[in-house]
Amino acid sequence: MVAAVDSVLERLSAAGVRQVAVTWDNHAGETLVKVVPLRHLPEAIAKGVGFSPVSDAFRSDGVIDGAHRLARPDGDLRLRADLESLAMLEPQLGWAWAAGERWDRNSGPYAADQRHFCRRMEAELAASGWRLRAGFELEWVVVVPGADGTPQAVLPGGPYGADRLIEGLDYASALLKALDDAEVPWLQFHPEYGPSQFELSFAPDRSLTIADHLIRARLVIQRVTRRFGWYSSFSAKPRLDWVGNGGHLHLSVLHDEGPILQGGQGSYGLKPEGEALIAGLLEQLPSLMALASPSPVSYLRLVPSSWSAPFQVWGVENREAALRLVPSAADGCDAHLEIKAVDPTTNPYLLLGALQAQVKEALARPRVLPPAQIGDPAGAPGFSVRRLPSSLLEARDALAADHGLEAAMGPLLHGSLLDSLDAEIQRVQQLPVEDQVNGCCWWPLVGGLA
Ligand code: GLU
Ligand code: MG
Repeated sequence: MVAAVDSVLERLSAAGVRQVAVTWDNHAGETLVKVVPLRHLPEAIAKGVGFSPVSDAFRSDGVIDGAHRLARPDGDLRLRADLESLAMLEPQLGWAWAAGERWDRNSGPYAADQRHFCRRMEAELAASGWRLRAGFELEWVVVVPGADGTPQAVLPGGPYGADRLIEGLDYASALLKALDDAEVPWLQFHPEYGPSQFELSFAPDRSLTIADHLIRARLVIQRVTRRFGWYSSFSAKPRLDWVGNGGHLHLSVLHDEGPILQGGQGSYGLKPEGEALIAGLLEQLPSLMALASPSPVSYLRLVPSSWSAPFQVWGVENREAALRLVPSAADGCDAHLEIKAVDPTTNPYLLLGALQAQVKEALARPRVLPPAQIGDPAGAPGFSVRRLPSSLLEARDALAADHGLEAAMGPLLHGSLLDSLDAEIQRVQQLPVEDQVNGCCWWPLVGGLA
C-alpha cells in the first residue's frame, strides 16, 4: 500500500501536479470538494479530511433543509481519497482528482456514503457470481443567459450536424483535449438533436470507475465551457421548449461463463438469466427512478415521444421502451441494455449502487420475460402501456415502498435519501413549472448564476 502511494505520488509529481481535488456527491447530486496539497495526499488517503454529515441535507439550491434528519450541527466525518481513483484533472495547472468516501472516525465507512454504497453493492453482486459492466452517455447544452435570464443557444447548427461541429470546432478541440488530459476514456462525441446540445459517451467499465468518469467529465466540460465564456447546463430540462438532456446508461451483466444477454437459446439470443435480468429490472424500475431522474424537472423531460423512454416496457432497439435491448449481431458487437430514463443530474454512485442491488435481486430466481414492446407505446390503443413514475413524488413513493432497496442501503442511507427527496418535492410545491425549470437551468451551478 505504502509502495503504491509512493509510486502514484511520483507519477503525479513528475507530471507537475501540486494539488488534488477530492470530490464526493451528496444526496442532491451536487459534487462537493476539498482540495489537498500533493504532499498531504497520503494523509488524505489514510485518514481523510473533515466533512460534516449536514452536507447531505443540502437541497439542490444549496439551502439546508431544516426537516432533514442530517440537518444538525454536531458530528463529523472524514472524506478519504481513494487511491485507485486518482487521475489528472487539469495537469497544466497542477491539478489532479480523486474520488472520496466518507468514514466515521471510529467505526469504518459512513453508513450513508453514496460511493461506499456503490462499492458494497459491487462486492455483493460479485459474491453472487455476477458482474455489471456499464457506460454512460452524457448530454448537455452550451448556453449563455439572455436578456430575460433564460439560457440561449450559442452554437448554431442542426441536429447531429457537422455544421454545428465546425461552428464550435475550437470548443470541441479544447474539450476533447482536456478530457484526454484528464484521463477520461471518452468513446464518441457529437452535436445532439437539441439547440446547442452535445453528447459524449464513455467506455464501458465497472460501476465505480464509470461513475468516477462521469463526475470528472462533468467537471472538465464545465471548466472548458467557462473558458469560452459560456455555461454548460446539465439540467434534465434546461428550457421548457427544448428537448431534455439525457444521461442514458448502457449495461450488461456477466457471469463466469460470459455475458448473459447473448449466446443463449431464448429470443434474441438471451440466456434464461438474461430473460430474468430484463424481467426483474423492469419490475423494479419505478424505485430506481428516484435515483436515475432525481430532480422535479427530470419528469418534464420524461414525456412520450422524446426518446427519454418513460414507459415501463422493454423492446428490441425500441427508443421509447424503458429497457432497450440491443442484441448482438453479425457485426460482432456485444448485446446490452439501455436505460434512457436517466439524466445527468443523477448521483451516479447511488444509481449504480441501487442498480446492482436490483440486478442481484432480478437474478435471484428464474423469471418469465413479458412480451417485447413493438412500436411507440404512446400509440398503443387507449394508452394502455404502463408509464414509469411521472413525478418526483411518485418516484419517491416507489423508493419508500421498496424493501429490497431499503435493506440494501440500510436505514440511514435509505431514510436520509427520502428526506432529501421530500425536501426537493416541498421546495417546488408552490412553484409554477417555468420557475422550476429556470431555477435549475444552470445546473451544476447550485443557486444559479450569481
Ligand atoms: N435528448 C434525449 C433525452 O433526453 C435523448 C436523445 C437520444 O440520444 O436518443 O434523453
Ligand atoms: Mg443522445
